Amino acid sequence: MAKQEYTRNRSDSKIGKIVIDRDLCIGAASCIAVSGTTFELDDENKAVVTGVDSVDDDTLTMAAESCPTKAILLFDKEGKQVFPK
Ligand code: SF4
Repeated sequence: MAKQEYTRNRSDSKIGKIVIDRDLCIGAASCIAVSGTTFELDDENKAVVTGVDSVDDDTLTMAAESCPTKAILLFDKEGKQVFPK
């Protein structure tokens, strides 16, 4: 599947879901530089989420913003897309 979804469970988080669009991911690893506890590259050099609740919303948003291809999409707990806007 091209898009992989990860549900967040942190009680202090407004972000309820992280989606990686694997077709857009080019393995640039900027997301990992910003938040290495959240993202890893798999054996296809695509980002996967390994620590869905490991960082706060600000760090997660910075990681998504750092992605050159906007392959990381963030949704609030009502399912509304909050990044990219
Ligand atoms: S920054 Fe974007 S393109 Fe780079 S590995 Fe992360 S998701 Fe993929």
